[in-house]
Amino acid sequence: MAQEPLLEVKNLKKYFEIRGGLLKQVTGYVKAVDDISFTVRCGETLGIVGESGCGKSTAGRTILRLIEPTSGKVYFDGVDLAKLSREEMRRKRKDIQMVFQDPYASLNPRLTVADIIGEALPAHGVTDRQEINRRVNETLELCGLTAEQGRRYPHEFSGGQRQRVGIARSLILRPKLIIADEPVSALDVSIQAQIINLLQDLQEQLGLTYLFISHDLSVIRHISSRVGVMYLGRLVEIGAAEDLYETPRHPYTQALLSAIPLADPLAKRERVVLQGDVPSPANPPQGCAFSPRCPKVMDVCKVNRPEMVQMSGSYQVACHLYHN
Ligand code: SF4
Repeated sequence: MAQEPLLEVKNLKKYFEIRGGLLKQVTGYVKAVDDISFTVRCGETLGIVGESGCGKSTAGRTILRLIEPTSGKVYFDGVDLAKLSREEMRRKRKDIQMVFQDPYASLNPRLTVADIIGEALPAHGVTDRQEINRRVNETLELCGLTAEQGRRYPHEFSGGQRQRVGIARSLILRPKLIIADEPVSALDVSIQAQIINLLQDLQEQLGLTYLFISHDLSVIRHISSRVGVMYLGRLVEIGAAEDLYETPRHPYTQALLSAIPLADPLAKRERVVLQGDVPSPANPPQGCAFSPRCPKVMDVCKVNRPEMVQMSGSYQVACHLYHN
């Protein structure tokens, strides 16, 4: 059951400089993450969903300070991560781990899977060989792999098994929070379900908290207790998953959801086809970033950027339709 906030993100921004000309001067910014705020409570899964390029992966990496934020605050377990030295942040990463879309790219092909999984232990004070083996074998088993498979190399595994290795590697230090960035997007649908089920089992067994990033609304619905929808670097809607999928408030969320099949084959939902492409984050529209594509656009939308409005409970939406 979700309780205290484990992660608090406040007004987080990540702007990338655009440089041009002979002197390579700054000519503009790509606003990849533009002032997002949310919390993730202990034991819950917050899903972050949005189209490719909406800034969700940059947000995940910025939270973990794999990329330094432009501004904003990230509190983990009440600690302001920006105030930690490089060494303190390295130690803190024991509690916050990341699972990537393509684990193969980050698995050293010259190491056995057991060595890959146990690689981080010595840096965190576990140097006894027997203890390393014990922890690695225990973690392999948790992830549905055997000690014998631990003696093999990454290229000997299928995509789904490699993602199990990636998950085992993220769990070896027994973190509290996992940031999973498109962890099943590269897998076949049947394998996706196995990995999602594994993540849910691990959450229950180890009391994990997840920030789960994906472009896939069906995957997000399956695993998340709450969902945040991102568009062009900003959160446009966030709330309980059931509520958001049943009654989406933001026109962008309504359009996204209208494209996925309903669980009830007899139920009907009107498909909203969005016109045009996502604008460039280097040159976002004035006012609401969704206004050039929004079927419900009003004059005010083209001038004023809508702030988040609190709906019932902790449900929030950023749209002028809900401003008084
Ligand atoms: Fe559409 Fe206006 Fe709401 Fe933006 S603020 S989503 S343009 S209605």
